[in-house]
Amino acid sequence: MSEDIKNTEKGGISVEIEHIFPIIKKWLYSEKEIFLREIVSNACDAVTKMKRLASLGEAQIEDNPKYKITVTIDKAAKTLTVSDNGIGMTEDEVRRYICQIALSGALEFIEKYEGSDNKDGAADGIIGHFGLGFYSAFMVSDTVDVITRSFKGESAVKWVCSEAGEYEITTDYYRDERGTDVVMHIMDSESEFLDEYRVRGMLEKYCSFMPVEIYLSVEKAESESVKAEDNPADETVEPKPVNDIHPLWQKNPSDCTDEEYKEFYHKVFQDYREPLFHIHLNADYPLNFRGILYFPRLSHEYDSLEGQVKLYYNQVFVADNIKEVIPEFLLMLKGVLDCPELPLNVSRSYLQNSGYVAKISAHIVKKVADKLTSMFNLEREGYEKLWSDLKTFVEYGCLRDRKFYDRVKGAVIYETTDGRYVTLDEYLDKAKEKHEKTVYYAADATSQAQYISMFAAEGIDVVVLDKMIDTQFITIIEQENEGVKFVRIDADVAGALKADGTAEANEKLAEIFKEVSQNNDLKVTFELLKNEKIPAVLNISEETRRMEDMMRMYRMRNGDAGDMKFPTDVSLVINASNPLIKRLGDICDVDEAKAKKLAKQIYTLSLLAQRQLTADELQVFLADSFDMLENM
Ligand code: ADP
Repeated sequence: MSEDIKNTEKGGISVEIEHIFPIIKKWLYSEKEIFLREIVSNACDAVTKMKRLASLGEAQIEDNPKYKITVTIDKAAKTLTVSDNGIGMTEDEVRRYICQIALSGALEFIEKYEGSDNKDGAADGIIGHFGLGFYSAFMVSDTVDVITRSFKGESAVKWVCSEAGEYEITTDYYRDERGTDVVMHIMDSESEFLDEYRVRGMLEKYCSFMPVEIYLSVEKAESESVKAEDNPADETVEPKPVNDIHPLWQKNPSDCTDEEYKEFYHKVFQDYREPLFHIHLNADYPLNFRGILYFPRLSHEYDSLEGQVKLYYNQVFVADNIKEVIPEFLLMLKGVLDCPELPLNVSRSYLQNSGYVAKISAHIVKKVADKLTSMFNLEREGYEKLWSDLKTFVEYGCLRDRKFYDRVKGAVIYETTDGRYVTLDEYLDKAKEKHEKTVYYAADATSQAQYISMFAAEGIDVVVLDKMIDTQFITIIEQENEGVKFVRIDADVAGALKADGTAEANEKLAEIFKEVSQNNDLKVTFELLKNEKIPAVLNISEETRRMEDMMRMYRMRNGDAGDMKFPTDVSLVINASNPLIKRLGDICDVDEAKAKKLAKQIYTLSLLAQRQLTADELQVFLADSFDMLENM
């Protein structure tokens, strides 16, 4: 491109518009790097328009043109240039599209945001909304040149604009081919945007799937180019575009292989674990959006919150995790969504109030629920294997979105303590005779092992609900299934394992147990349990324990891990059919001291079967046990 200046005219962008430059800089500070997205996507649009005109026969151009965009870093000249071979602009178009920057939009922008600050990011992304995308280049440049030649064949135009808003326009300029160069003279304070690594990172973030090939080129300083000449091998390497112009989500699902889905996942999310499965979204008119959602493999309960759903607009990256478009609980997933019906730069308030966005969101929820249900129906064994990874996600989704719950409820399964999986209906069907409408569950297979074995001996299935979220989840299931009750195995021992007949209460013994437990509120009841081997078990009321769990969760969420003692409704069930208890009844009539020792030991053992002993409790228990052994 040699200079051939014939006609230069000076001008100033109108007085009002001059104000826009400082405001653009101030407002977009938090997202400065988006300027590159704006300039490259303008170049992409220019190429797309060119392709369309050529295909309609409305423009005469060369045969088989190789459309491309080149981003060039020139450190010596301190410029970052975006060049395209799209439609270009005539002088008139430069004046119309570049000089008169959507005047009304700009003024509206100033009125709305001047004089306040952007701490909450309210103005982020607003620039394009007001048709100012091109001007975002001034966030990082002190001067911007546009050298452009229209496909219409007129000579090129050079437009140079300073950050003060003064421009100079030169017509009859020379550019060897059709297209546009936007040359950004990067400010000294923004020199990071001349760094190859930084620019490549930005292109990868925003432009990875733009529909025109993008090449990054770095002008070597003189000393470096001498070195390159010494090493001619460099020259022969075919440059590779930084983007993939045919992202997988644009393809027909039936044309994509499992391998391609996995490869795409690894590449886009840099997660080298295999995703569990994917959903290819392909919604036609009127929703008109596409995407792929992946279920990532979660390492533990809290990992789940780290998903990433990237939103694109016609293959241009817009943002991650826009919760207005993707329901919050689906943000645990990873994936891409391309919504060409949304404007590229949309404000949060637009998204929140858009009926279209609400429909997209509902469609996604439906597709996810349908996928889970079809996996459950068609490949149950495989589905069961994935359940431990899916469980938290499904439960959270059910809590967040009743419609999701309604769609997915048939595919919710429960793991039993012996490693099988059952639906609620299957469980209740088996329970019909022994414990109708009651689901017994364990929260900790180790510390509740004794209870589990008592239930197993009676042939009662116990499901495992060991996550914090389970307490909330079962409340929903109870609300939605009339009469169904979830009961933890240490909450209803007497109810589930009672033998026929009634036990006689022994008031004196009850008093002794109360005394040795050092808990005045302890209730002591007498029952005949089927398993005669067990002298006593603790029963913790389901209701008060759930309240306690909720409180604990609430306090943990608020970072308050302090003293967590809550009053709980605890009772000690004495098994009147146990031989030791029968003997204890006799002993307490003749030797109360001995009876107390024995009762203390029985109480502590029942405590041990229910939970871990505290340090103090353990110390006393060991001392008492040794004492007893000595006297045997
Ligand atoms: P928007 O792209 O939202 O219309 P911009 O401020 O980014 O707003 O650009 C203004 C206009 O300038 C574009 O609509 C387009 O007509 C023109 N333009 C910008 N960049 C190019 C380019 N590389 N090639 C051709 N025309 C361009």
